[in-house]
Amino acid sequence: MEAEKNQDINEKLLFTNHVAQAIDEITLSLKPNGVFVVVDVNTASFVLPRLQEESQAIGSAKIIMLKAGEMHKNLDSLSQIWKQLGDAGATRSSLVINLGGGVITDMGAFAASTFKRGIPFTNVPTTLLGAVDASVGGKTGINFNSLKNEVGMFSNAELSIISTTFFRTLTSQELLAGYAEMIKHAFLSSAEETNRLLAYDITQYDPEKLLDMLRESVQVKVRFVNDDFTDRGMRRALNFGHTIAHAFEALAMKRRSPLSHGYAVAFGMVAALVLSHLKFGFPSDELHRYAGYVKRYYGAFDISCNDYKDLLEFMHHDKKNTVTGDLSCTLLKAYGDPQINVPVTSAEMQTALDLYRDLLSLA
Ligand code: NAD
Repeated sequence: MEAEKNQDINEKLLFTNHVAQAIDEITLSLKPNGVFVVVDVNTASFVLPRLQEESQAIGSAKIIMLKAGEMHKNLDSLSQIWKQLGDAGATRSSLVINLGGGVITDMGAFAASTFKRGIPFTNVPTTLLGAVDASVGGKTGINFNSLKNEVGMFSNAELSIISTTFFRTLTSQELLAGYAEMIKHAFLSSAEETNRLLAYDITQYDPEKLLDMLRESVQVKVRFVNDDFTDRGMRRALNFGHTIAHAFEALAMKRRSPLSHGYAVAFGMVAALVLSHLKFGFPSDELHRYAGYVKRYYGAFDISCNDYKDLLEFMHHDKKNTVTGDLSCTLLKAYGDPQINVPVTSAEMQTALDLYRDLLSLA
C-alpha cells in the first residue's frame, strides 16, 4: 500500500479499507518501543475489538479510554492522556494511535504532539466528519474556557488511515454531518463533483464507492492546506458557510438545544450561497437546487427575524470574521471559484438570512 504524501505539509494519507494491515505496516516501519491507542467509550466498543483481533500492533497496545463527546474535549481528558502515557513509560520513540471521531483525533494528536515535546502519532478516523475533515490538515487541540479549539497547535500525523469500514454504526445524522463537509469540498472544487455528491444518498452508501468519493474530497482540503498550512490565506476558502454556521451553533447553544457542526455547515452554506448570488451572480437555480437538497435531508435550523441581532453579534464576536467593521466571508463566484475575505455588511447578512428562511420554508 502506497501512502499519498503531500510534500508541502509533510502529511501522509492512506485511503484503504484494510485498516488493520495498514496499522501493522506503519507500526513495523516506525518500530516504536510502545504503542498507545486513544479511544472513547464508543470507539472502544464499536471499533476497537475487531482491530484488537486483526492487528498485532493494536492487539498488544496499551488502551487509553476517554469519555465520548465534545464536552469531554477538554483539559481534563488531555491530562488523562498525558498521565497514562507517563505512567506507562511512553517516550519519544513510542507511537500514539488515535482511533475515533474528530474529538479523539484532535485531542489525541495534541496530547501526542506535546508529550515529551512530541511523540509520533497516527490518526484512524472512525466518523465521516473525522475522515473528511478533522484527521487531515494538521490542526489539533482542545476546547478551553468555554471556547472551541482555544488551545492547540499545528502538527501532522505520521499517517492518517482513511477508511469507510467503521461507519456502519454511525447514525444517519452523523453521516449527514460529515457529508456536509464533503459537499463543501465539492462546491470548492467543480460543478461535476457537486452534481455527483448531490445525486448520492449518503444514508445508503456503498463502502468502496464512498472511499473513492472521500479520496476526491480530501484532496480538495489538502490542496488548500498545502497552499496555506497556517491558515493565513487561501485555506480560508475552507470556511465557506462557516461564518453563519458558527453563529447558528452559538444560537442553538443559547437555546440549550445544540446543533451539530455538520448540520450547521449544511444550513450556513444556504445563506452563503444566497450572498454568493447577490454579490457575485452565483446561479440562482443552483442555489435553489442546494436549498431543496438541504430541506430534504437536513430539514432546517429554525430562525426568525427576532434572532438576527443575536446572530449578527455572534458573527462579529468571532474574530476571524471581521475586517474593518464589516463581516468577512468566503463566498463563491462559481463552483470551484471561491472568494475569500469578502466584506459583507450587516444589512446584506440580514437579507441573506431572510432568503435562507424563504428557501427553507421557515415562517
Ligand atoms: P466525535 O469524535 O465526538 O464523534 C461523534 C460521536 O460518534 C461520538 O459520540 C463518538 O464516540 C461516536 N463515534 C465515533 N466513531 C464511531 C463509530 N464508528 N460508530 C459509532 N459511534 C462512533 O465528533 P466528530 O463529529 O467525529 O468530530 C467533531 C470534532 O472534530 C469537533 O471537536 C471539531 O472541532 C473537530 N474538527 C476538527 C477539525 C480539524 O481540522 N482538526 C475539522 C473539523 C472538525
